[in-house]
Order: sequence, then structure tokens, then C-alpha cells
Amino acid sequence: MTRGSSTSQRQKAPAANPGGKLLSEELAEIIHQAVRDNRSYLMEHESKEILEGAGIATTGYLVARSEDEALALCEKIGFPVVMKIVSPDVVHKSDAGGVRLNLQSADEVRKAYRGMMDTFKYQHIEGITIQRMAAPGIEAIIGVTRDPSFGPLIMFGLGGVFVEVLRDVSFRILPITEKDAAEMIEEIRGSDILKGYRGRPVDLQSLQQLLLKISRLINENPEIHELDLNPLFLYSEGYIAVDARMFVREPAQTEGTTATGATNLHDFFYPKSIAVIGASDVKGKLGANVFCNLVSHGYPGKLYPINPGKETVMGVRAYKSIRDVPDPVDLAIVIVPAKAAEAAIADCCTKGVRFVVVEAAGFAESGKEGKEAQARIEAVIRKHGCRVLGPNCSGVINTHHNMVQSIGLLGDLKKGNVGMVAQAGVYAAGILTGLSNVLDFGIVATIGNKMDINETDILEYLSDDDHISAIVMYMEDIRSGKRFVDVASRAALRKPVIVLKSGRTEAGKKAVSSHTASLAGDDEVNNAAFRQSGVIRARDNEHLFALTRAFSKQPIPKGNGVMVITYTGSLGVAATDMLYLSGMRLAELEPYFQQRLKNALPDYASVGNPIDCSFSMTPEQVKKLIEIGVESNDVQSFIVVIQGEILGSFVDVMKSIDYKDKPVACVVACKEFMIHDVVKMEQAGFPVYSTAEMAAEVLGQMYAYGVRRQSAMTDSIARHLTKDTLSVDNMPVRLRLINPKDIGLWTDFVNSCSPKSLWLRFLSPFSATPERAQRFCNVNPEDEVALVAEARTGDQHKFLGIARLIKNKRREGEAEYAIIISDPWQNKSLGITLSEQCIELAKKEGYKTIRAETLQENYAMIRIFRRCAFNFDGKDENMVSMTLNLS
Ligand code: ADP
Ligand code: MG
Repeated sequence: MTRGSSTSQRQKAPAANPGGKLLSEELAEIIHQAVRDNRSYLMEHESKEILEGAGIATTGYLVARSEDEALALCEKIGFPVVMKIVSPDVVHKSDAGGVRLNLQSADEVRKAYRGMMDTFKYQHIEGITIQRMAAPGIEAIIGVTRDPSFGPLIMFGLGGVFVEVLRDVSFRILPITEKDAAEMIEEIRGSDILKGYRGRPVDLQSLQQLLLKISRLINENPEIHELDLNPLFLYSEGYIAVDARMFVREPAQTEGTTATGATNLHDFFYPKSIAVIGASDVKGKLGANVFCNLVSHGYPGKLYPINPGKETVMGVRAYKSIRDVPDPVDLAIVIVPAKAAEAAIADCCTKGVRFVVVEAAGFAESGKEGKEAQARIEAVIRKHGCRVLGPNCSGVINTHHNMVQSIGLLGDLKKGNVGMVAQAGVYAAGILTGLSNVLDFGIVATIGNKMDINETDILEYLSDDDHISAIVMYMEDIRSGKRFVDVASRAALRKPVIVLKSGRTEAGKKAVSSHTASLAGDDEVNNAAFRQSGVIRARDNEHLFALTRAFSKQPIPKGNGVMVITYTGSLGVAATDMLYLSGMRLAELEPYFQQRLKNALPDYASVGNPIDCSFSMTPEQVKKLIEIGVESNDVQSFIVVIQGEILGSFVDVMKSIDYKDKPVACVVACKEFMIHDVVKMEQAGFPVYSTAEMAAEVLGQMYAYGVRRQSAMTDSIARHLTKDTLSVDNMPVRLRLINPKDIGLWTDFVNSCSPKSLWLRFLSPFSATPERAQRFCNVNPEDEVALVAEARTGDQHKFLGIARLIKNKRREGEAEYAIIISDPWQNKSLGITLSEQCIELAKKEGYKTIRAETLQENYAMIRIFRRCAFNFDGKDENMVSMTLNLS
């Protein structure tokens, strides 16, 4: 029996596959064989057989080679059936008349069979597939294609014949996580259709699992170059792949891999000595600018000007060649004509210089000869393990090391917390000069042709440097995209990474085979990479620095309620509209606060939110309003719209307010025409925007960043749980972190605890209020871990206990520990297990000690602490204090 003509579908047992692989060796062999035979794709029935083998539901892959066999197969699967042509010559089957749907009888099947034989009599026909007629569902598409920089990508979207027109698809770089899969589904415009708009929702769970399975299939079988499941029918229960095609080829070795990333760049940013090859004191020469910048900004290390024709440069002893410098040199800057640069770099390598910044131009950017020179240099530096920035760049600025390597002369720079990577020298010159009025930079690195050190290497370093708390990137192309996603995901967890990527429009259509490839424009891929790694993408230069000013000067909002204070209704409305479009909302002020606001304003002002102070708005009024606002739990950030004419009078007052860690964005309409006071406000730490929309949008992006970072941190803490299921009294119990959706379960739990248990835990009478539920279920993973033990019987969930580790802000490395177990579950092993897991988590989170305080009469608790090896520290009248040393 030939493959594909089997009348019985094989039983699959994926678990039994070698190495725990998704596909059996036999199925993987179909792919290998196709590659060996130089075939470019697998036909529908072959693709579906492989998919079925991976546990993916399809309409079947039976093939008939004669009319009689076709009938026999129909008998077997039952009517109605679908018949499709199997021919390597027919790619789009339905367009060619090769798909016959909904055949109800033997007669119809015979007719269809003969019809197809006739239609395709000039093509090579392998047979006819006979498959189940799938019930109608929502037509979706899942596909895979590959990008030279990012490697394999997965796509999901609404599919069928209109997929290329609607372009309602989302992409991710493979492999994906469960969260990526969920976000891909959420991201498409039609996601509401999937969630049940006008009908039953589709089975999102199994769709997510399908995406993950495809991710694994591609990961384990790199010969699958591209894949299209189009359409895929989605149902309220399950899904079915109705059509499938796989493109195969010998896997490329280099795809998505990286050459760099091995060296720690600390000494590159903080060198103890610098040689400037091409240093000069002839005004106007670039070599003079670079050297002058180093001297005038007070570079603290040793400087060695290299210039064969000079005894000294700007009073510093010069050398003819870097080889003549008697001491070791950490870093060399090369700023000589391209022709001389090659030899200079070779000299640096011989001297053992580890880092070279090539500011000289005339390499790959300038044609064939330059390209060849660059390639020769690359070979030399690789051999010596020397790391090179550039060529064709404007060097590095590190204000924390008083080091300015720029080609353009730069005036004073303040030490700041912004780190910037730019694939354009202008960001270390013209643009920087303007920006330095309103933004303080720590490190600026321009990467030029990025022959060696690239944007990802710098990003990785900046995410580690404690002087830097916000990262800005300007990029024209992304080298080794896969490593970028990896590094950026980790960096974005620590600090905001804001990116402007130019070249958004696709420069010309590629000739592509699959639906997926035709939809995967460069920009879709970049977007996917940024979303997946949590990087914030700016639209343009203005948006880029609008975000940067807010992120670098203001804290992240902890909720989405905003108080808007304005002097004109129109700008209040503009802010409001944009807030709602950006995932934010107007804070709802409790009556108590409303009354206080009223008292702070003249009668004619409109108290509500936005608060319209009218044109009589004064700085003192605004101060009062903000001071009332910061106390409300629902207000987590502010937008203040200020009259340009009186902006100057706001600076000192705004500075004097205690914002309790809640961010403020200011709006001054037409600010560019009153720039003097705007600069003062910016320098006082308040980002000022020309439009209310921009202020609202920026706050929305900050909030979204905070939410994402918290959830990623929570996920990473959760991965440290060594035990997440156990059985207590034969009841299955799951240990997991609490989340904001647990409000109901938390409230039920507190209500079920006896007053005594609550007293012992909270040391005062305690009951579940909605406000407390909010607070106890929304933990900030940077400060607190809350672990719950949850029992499930059928669909019923309930909490049996909750343990919390809370960072002690006054004592470095110490966490406070508290635990409560529901009454019927006390004195079983649960308290100990929960505590042991919390101790594990505390270790992983880097805590050195855990401290617990409890009432002396809380014997059960004391017993748990003793069992977990806490040391008794002391007691007063009714409390005992115990600590556990983790180091
Ligand atoms: P192609 O994409 O090569 O033109 P398909 O196999 O996707 O061919 O078939 C075309 C259309 O026919 C599909 O989009 C789907 O709507 C419908 N169809 C195909 N196979 C089935 C099936 N087994 N059950 C129900 N509908 C089907
Ligand atoms: Mg199709």
C-alpha cells in the first residue's frame, strides 16, 4: 500500500516518539525524503498526515487513485465528503476547479471524480483526496515563514480567501510561550469575533495549544521552511485544519544566529586610558574635535594622542604610532582617512588594545572598495579578539565617566539616566545638543556600520548599567534579530526600552509562495519582535523623546485612573478622548475628595474630572488640587494643562509638591513658542507636551509598560516554584501566585476564616472589603510575593491558605513573612509546605533573611516557623519575633 492510500488512519502515540519529539521517526522521514528529492513543498495529504502525527486535527489525508477506490473511501468515512485534486502542478486547488465540496452520494462522487479527471487531464494527477466535510466554523489561518534576521515566525489571523486583503494577522518570533500565543489572538482586529461577538466564542484554549504545538513542530523540524493552514475552522469546541501546505528545504545554518555578544562591555564604556589615532589641534579637523571633546569634558583617564607629525596635541604628549605608547591602552579611537585606518586598526590589535572605536568613514557605506576594506578589518579583529565600534560612527558618550568621543564639538552635558543607542551619528551631535536642554543622558553610543558591536550588544550593556534607567534606540536595521528579541525581553523587564525603527515601508514586493510569507512584511516582523519582547515602539522622533522624557523623569503609573487639571475645557476633552483610546480612564473621585476639591476652587470652577480651573488658574490652586488627588486611591497619575503665559510661575510650585510616586505630565499648547519656561519645567523633572493627546498617550504607554513588566516578573517568580501540586487529605491542592482575578476567591476565603484566625494574622479585627480585596490581589512583584494554596473540586475553586513575603523597605535584603490557613486546614502539612515554597522563592529573589512576627498565643504558627528552622529572636509582652537566615 502506498503512502497516503491507506484506508485506516494510523494510531498516534506522540509520547512514545524518540527524544520526546512531536513526530515519529517515520513521519519526520517524509520531510527528510522530500528534501532529498529536491521537492519544494508537501501536498495537502502529506502535510495533513504530518500534522495529524503531531496531534493536530485535520479533515483527513486519504487518497484515492481510482474511481472505485474513491467510493470505497467514501463508504468508510461516510457522506457528505469533500474531494480535492492531488497534483504537484496545482497549487491553488479551488481556483483551478480542484475542490468539490459537500458530496452527498456515490453518484455525486463518481460524477465529481470524472469531472476532475477531465479538468486536469493535461496535468500530472497523483490522485484525489477524499476527506470529511467539515462543519462551518470561523475561518482562520495559522502559518509559518522565515526571516533572514529573526528566523522562523508564526502568524495567526482571520483566514480564508480574503486573508491577503483583510491583513488581519499577528506575528511572533518562534518559539513562542503560552503568553505570546494568547497575545497573538488578542492582537488581531477581529479578536472580538473569536470571543463570541454575535455567536458562541471559539475554543480559545485549544487554539492557543495549537499555536504552541506548531511552534514546537517547527522547532523540532527545521526542514519545514514555511507552512500554511488556510483555512483552519475554529469551533466553540476545538478546531479543524481544512487545508494545509508545507514548504520544505535544507535548513540554513546561519539563520538568526549571532556572532557577537561574548564580551562584557564595561571597560568599553569606562576605559582607563584612550589613544586617539588622528588626534590633532588644527581647528575644524575631526581629529581635533574628538580630542578636544575628551579634554574639555574632563575625561579622567590617560589620553594618548597619536599623530606622526606632532610632539604634543593640546599640550598632551603625542606618539607617532600606538605601538610607541609605553603603557597598556584600554581603548583606541581611529579618526584618520579610511586608507590609513586599516593599518591603524591592525596596530591596535598588535598592541593588544581590546576596544577600538572607528569613527573614520569610507567603508561598507561607500561602495565596493570600502566593503572589501571592512571585510579585511573584520578578519583581523576577529583573529585578535578585539571589539570594534563603527566604522562610520560618532563614538560613545558616557557622562558618568566624563567621556565624550563625538566628532562634533559638544558643550556641557549633565549626568543623566538615559541610555541611547543610535545607528546615526546625528544623535550624538545636532539632535543631542537640542535634547540636552530637556533630557540628561548617561550613555550615548552611535554604532555606524556595526561591523562588530551592534545595537543588541549595547542594549545588553545598558540594561546592566545602574546609571541608566531608560533606554532609547534608533535603528535602521536589526542584526541577528533572534538575539535582539532575547536580550530586549530581559532588558525590558528591568527598564523601559523605547525604539524608533525607520524604514517602515516595505521596499518592494518579494516573490513569495505562501500566504504567510506574503503577509510577513519587514515591518510586521519588527512589530512582532518589539511586542514580544516588551519594547515600546515610537512612531517618529518626536514621539520617541516624548516617551523618553516621561519614562526618564517620572515614575510608572500604578493604575489607570488619571486626574486631569486644566484651565480650558477643550484641552480637557482632548486629553480625555486620548486617555480612553490609550487604555486609561478618568479617575473617579470619592464624594469626600470632591468636597475638598470644591473647597479649594472658586465657585465658578467646574469640579469633576477633568477639573476646569478656568483662566484664573494659579500654581497654588493646582498644588492644592494635586495634594488632594494624590490621596485618592483611584488617582494614579496627573495631566496638568497650563497656560503658556504664566508657565514660569509654576516651576517652583510644581517642584514643591509631594506626588507620592504618582507621575505628572504637563501640557502647554504651542509650547514651542514659549520654549524658555518649558525648558525650565523639563529641567525641574516635568515632561511638557504641546498637545493633551500626546500627554495622555504617553501616560497610557507608561501604564501598559508597567502592567506588562509586572506580569512578566510574576511569571518569572512563578517559574521558581519547585512544587505546584500536592495533595492534602486526598484533596488535590495547587500552589500558585495570587493575581488580580482572585478578588472573589480572596473574599470568600477571608469570609470563611474564623474571627480568631483573622485576628492572629492581622492583629486586629479584619473583614473583606472590596478595597482590601483589590489591594491584596494586586501585588507588585517587585515588593511582594503572595502564594496561595487552591483546592479544586470539579469546577469549584477555593483558597485554603495564603502566605506573603513582603520586602522590608527599611532593611536591605529582608522580607517579612505572614501566613494564614483556613480553619479546617490548620495543623495539617499545608502551612509547612506553603512556608517551604515561600522560603524557596525568597532565596531565588535574592533575600538574605526572612522575619516573622506573631502573637505568642499563635502556637500553630510558631510550630510552622520552628519546623522551617526559623530562629527565635526575642519577644515582648505578647509578640514573638523569629528570623530565618538564607545565606
Ligand atoms: P485551496 O486553498 O488550495 O484553493 P482549500 O483546500 O483551502 O483549497 O479549499 C478551498 C475552500 O473550500 C476552503 O477555503 C474551505 O472553505 C472549503 N473546504 C475545503 N475543504 C473542506 C472540507 N474538508 N470541509 C469543508 N470545507 C472545505
Ligand atoms: Mg486553502
